[in-house]
Amino acid sequence: QHFSGNEIRKTFLDFYAGRGHQVLPSASLVPEDPTVLLTIAGMLPFKPIFLGQRTPEFKRATTSQKCIRTNDIENVGRTKRHHTFFEMLGNFSFGDYFKEQAIAWGWEISTKVFGLSPKNLVVSVFKDDDEAFAIWRDQIGVPEARIKRLGEDDNFWVSGPTGPCGPCSEIYYDFHPERGDENIDLEDDTRFIEFYNLVFMQYNRDASGNLTPLQNKNIDTGMGLERIAQILQNVPNNYETDLIFPIIQTAGQIAGIDYHSSDEKTKISLKVIGDHVRSVVHMIADEIRASNVGRGYVLRRLIRRVVRHGRLIGIDGEFTTQVAETAIALSESAYPNVRQREAAIKAELQREESNFLRTLDRGEKLLDEVINRISSIQQENDLPSSVREEYYHPSPLPKQKISGLDAFTLYDTYGFPLELTQEIAEEQGLEVDVDGFNAEMQKQVERAKAAHETIDLTVQGSLDKLAEHIHATEFLGYSQSAATGKVE
Ligand code: ATP
Ligand code: MG
Ligand code: MG
Ligand code: MG
Repeated sequence: QHFSGNEIRKTFLDFYAGRGHQVLPSASLVPEDPTVLLTIAGMLPFKPIFLGQRTPEFKRATTSQKCIRTNDIENVGRTKRHHTFFEMLGNFSFGDYFKEQAIAWGWEISTKVFGLSPKNLVVSVFKDDDEAFAIWRDQIGVPEARIKRLGEDDNFWVSGPTGPCGPCSEIYYDFHPERGDENIDLEDDTRFIEFYNLVFMQYNRDASGNLTPLQNKNIDTGMGLERIAQILQNVPNNYETDLIFPIIQTAGQIAGIDYHSSDEKTKISLKVIGDHVRSVVHMIADEIRASNVGRGYVLRRLIRRVVRHGRLIGIDGEFTTQVAETAIALSESAYPNVRQREAAIKAELQREESNFLRTLDRGEKLLDEVINRISSIQQENDLPSSVREEYYHPSPLPKQKISGLDAFTLYDTYGFPLELTQEIAEEQGLEVDVDGFNAEMQKQVERAKAAHETIDLTVQGSLDKLAEHIHATEFLGYSQSAATGKVE
């Protein structure tokens, strides 16, 4: 059976609605919770309930939550499964059903409703969670070899240094069960993809790290819509699902290229555009404006990355509003506010894009000067040695490179990514001193660290990290890895 992305979302919500869950709309990407900059998980709007600060109106809820995780930005286009913007389907129990029921329904929707074969599923549990292990083995019938025990990083969810937390259990899809149960390595993404995480929030952690049982045992889950779509639509990665691919096609049309016949580098650029355009459309729809601080800075960096990758694939003029149109059309049925905010989205994009293009133009002029300077030295080299010795230098100069400092100035002041400098240099038969560039970058990072905490999404920065510094209570996301931004 074929499922469109929209059908998957509806099927998930209907399944849990039929089991007593209140269907609630997605909350804004701008969270009420002041400890995080952007909504990074479906549980975030319910955090006060889990903390016992708010009494829930319903014991059970289900949502499709818009999420943005900037910590995954470097993974975008490089892994098959990570986005900045994605939708998290979730079912929640506030002191109502717990482990057994959550596991039973998680399995039922995966196998009976979405029709995944049990042969293709592997589950993980927290290493000490014998109870979850037993439920999977004895009640669901998963063979022991296909229940993996994982450590805290993957399978113990914490909402911060203190507060509600608990073990979790993840469901993975196995694309190659024929490789056998002997050497199952869930980090092998050529074989496995995590698509559903069930969190059993049953403890409170105090400042000294002690766990005490919570009065309420809660359930918090997350199924990545784009990931389950990848599986059900039988495509090689999230980007080729019907949720994102039309955006990539629009960008390809503007550039005059075809995704499927493009090289790997071009495909990455197309995927970055496909991903980031969804982020910026929903961010602006949720009233975020480009600026140099906080969320506004995330938005600005994302727009600039779209423009820059557009250039890398050969787009010259302005194009972001056109790709945004495709993204709006794709999500307006589920999120009508993107169409309502269409004019604002396009105006913001247009303004940011034309500003950035002007900056890029200035950078290109500077780069021309640098190249001219180098070429004139090069020309001296090319003179006959007799002439050179007499009028210029006694011996040939070494082959000229664009210095690390010049490349860094272009990057830092003019927003010129290194790849762009390299490409233009290459056309002129020149090289860039990449080691020198990296050394300048390192100096910059250290200067920034010394002065104050700054963030830059292109330099391993993530706003989650900024949030950690601003606020005493940090929110680590579903797992430690979500917060550290480790490339998995
Ligand atoms: P991974 O280990 O693949 O990075 P995760 O363990 O960080 O995922 P969770 O925090 O458990 O993810 O989030 C719940 C679900 O949300 C995941 O099982 C996945 O389906 C989805 N998800 C998480 N991060 C992303 C992302 N960056 N892009 C798309 N889907 C995501
Ligand atoms: Mg994980
Ligand atoms: Mg997980
Ligand atoms: Mg992660």
